[in-house]
Parts: sequence; C-alpha cells; structure tokens
Amino acid sequence: MPHVVTTTCVDHKYQECVAVCPVDAFREAETYLVIDPEECIDCGACAPECPVDAIFSDMDIPEDEEHWIERNADESIDAEVAEGESPVLAD
Ligand code: SF4
Repeated sequence: MPHVVTTTCVDHKYQECVAVCPVDAFREAETYLVIDPEECIDCGACAPECPVDAIFSDMDIPEDEEHWIERNADESIDAEVAEGESPVLAD
C-alpha cells in the first residue's frame, strides 16, 4: 500500500518529502519524483510536507490520478535514489 507521487509534482520537483522518508523510497525522474513501491512502508510522513499536495496513499488517490500508481512503480525501477539535492524546477 505505497504512497504515490502525482501530477502536481511535474515541473516543480520540490523535495521536502525526501528529507522525511525513513527508507529512501523517492526516486529521480527528470522533472518530478516517484516513489518506489517496493521500498515505501506507507508511513505517511511525506504527504503533508509536499507544498503542492502531490503525494497520496494509493488507497485514497483521486480517480483521475490513478494512472500514477503504475507510473511510480514502472519509473522507479531504473531510477536513481533521490537525495533531495536536485534543482527545484518551480523556482
Ligand atoms: S509514505 Fe513514508 S516510506 Fe513511503 S515514501 Fe512517504 S515518507 Fe517514504
């Protein structure tokens, strides 16, 4: 039951979430982050840290964002672990 990064992260890539994740579950995509569902322990710490409300539990993700569940899983496979040091694109 992982958490999932969704549309509003795209072209923002704020990284407050990375700092609070206890298991280093965030991965780098080019213009956003994704969460590796194999690593996420569903603690919920990241969601309230996101300034654009991009992170949801896969149990209460909005219907029009559900495609991001698969996208997080697929794109996290070969992606680098996010360190929270990438440029914030929205600034
Ligand atoms: S829910 Fe917890 S474990 Fe999962 S990505 Fe967020 S902070 Fe990390």
